[in-house]
Amino acid sequence: MTPTSGRIPTEALVDGQWLTSSGTFETRDPARDHVIATVSSTPPELVDRAVASAREAFEAWRAVPPVDRGEILMAIAQALTGRSEEIARLISLDSGKPIAQARRDVQSAARHFIFYAGAVDKFGGRELPLDTDHVTYTRWEPRGVTGHITPWNSPLSIPCRSIAAALAMGNSVVVKPSELAPLPVLALAELFDEADRVPPGVFNVIPGLGATTGAALASHPDIDSLTFTGSVSTGAAVMKAAAETITPVSLELGGKAPQLVLDDADLDKAAAGCVFGIIRNAGQSCLAGSRILVHASRYESFVDALVSRFQEIQIGPGIEDPDMGPLISKDKRDQILRQLESVEGTVKTGGGIPDVAPEYADGYFIEPTIVTDIDPEDPVAAEELFAPVMSVQTFESLDDALDRANDTSYGLSAGVWTSNLSKAHHAANELRVGSVSINEYPVRFYNGPHGGYKQSGIGREQGIEALLNYIEIKKIGIRL
Ligand code: NAD
Repeated sequence: MTPTSGRIPTEALVDGQWLTSSGTFETRDPARDHVIATVSSTPPELVDRAVASAREAFEAWRAVPPVDRGEILMAIAQALTGRSEEIARLISLDSGKPIAQARRDVQSAARHFIFYAGAVDKFGGRELPLDTDHVTYTRWEPRGVTGHITPWNSPLSIPCRSIAAALAMGNSVVVKPSELAPLPVLALAELFDEADRVPPGVFNVIPGLGATTGAALASHPDIDSLTFTGSVSTGAAVMKAAAETITPVSLELGGKAPQLVLDDADLDKAAAGCVFGIIRNAGQSCLAGSRILVHASRYESFVDALVSRFQEIQIGPGIEDPDMGPLISKDKRDQILRQLESVEGTVKTGGGIPDVAPEYADGYFIEPTIVTDIDPEDPVAAEELFAPVMSVQTFESLDDALDRANDTSYGLSAGVWTSNLSKAHHAANELRVGSVSINEYPVRFYNGPHGGYKQSGIGREQGIEALLNYIEIKKIGIRL
């Protein structure tokens, strides 16, 4: 199957040129275990060239008036929208995401460009009142060359949220997409390459492996800021590398989101929301609601409702738009199956490999799984699995639920299901997470800040707040 009607770039885009490397890696369709494309693996020397070209292009780009930069970003949004179906198919094939979710990924990507296109001429420094003998003010200035290291699970919208903000503020970009689904960012690179008025070197893409290409970018001495989205352990490695040159980092890391189902919740809606919250993208979302905490009085009926919904989930290749697609790799699927075999708890449903059509027999599918009676310390209950696996535990009071919800090193997201407004607000205030969704999960909005407490990250991406990642603030004082 041809994922797109046009060319799928598989090379690095550096200084406006498509460059191949002798080293390559394969990206596979997780629904079939087929190679979709063989992609250039950018070696450290070419990472140097990409950073050098971004450094040179930065001077031209920062001089482009903000309103013109906004028009250029808007044109990229339009180009994305114009090829949305083709790119959505590419996302679905490369990452396994159901096509409806892949379409949403393209839509979010375009919205990030539209949002920051509109922000370019609305935010900046301010005058500071001091006395009548001075004029004092601040300026927002771009940081310079920004590095972006991105994951595979939302392989277009996540890169676009930081790329659009960085470009809007006048920075140049070097982006390393995940080796597990690099094609959507390479398709974006083609749009930049075709766009008018983008100086070569403003936008560079360096596909490659994390340990080589990613590490070379993270430790590069001429990068002015690093935006990383990925796992906690890789985030820690990136932060260590950046520390050598005191490079500022924005880290968007993993989660283990609790969903609190209170005794007054609408159980039907809560069950539907909890199921969607874990099977969305086959649980391969930083927001995946994998820890269900349900009031003891509703526990049995709620578990029954979850189990019957799980058993109706349609599983298949993303391109056919099932409820749930495959996991990203065979290794990942096998690791989860092993964890479920040794879990200290009861596997109520799932825990194995589902039946799929014979042509997808080699795909990395897994059954959506519910585990009850689990030891809260068991890795299945305590660690981010990045799979469609939820644990269900009980609580006796709201304070008990909040204590359990917060008893984790993660702090990205949480859900609350209740019909009591006071309890909803109390929970929202007490949960130590970057986003709380009430009576829908997850409530997603592209124009608000996204990020985590504790080990779920540092800083925020998306929205106006993210602009601060891409500027230096200079203060200026004049004696009159
Ligand atoms: P990952 O950490 O394995 O990889 C992320 C990126 O880092 C990839 O591009 C990879 O090639 C690169 N990388 C790997 N080793 C590196 C190194 N030593 N130096 C520099 N770069 C390196 O994560 P993943 O599997 O791609 O994504 C899943 C993780 O991302 C999950 O933990 C998920 O929760 C998290 N995530 C977080 C958010 C968020 O907004 N908080 C969003 C999506 C995904």
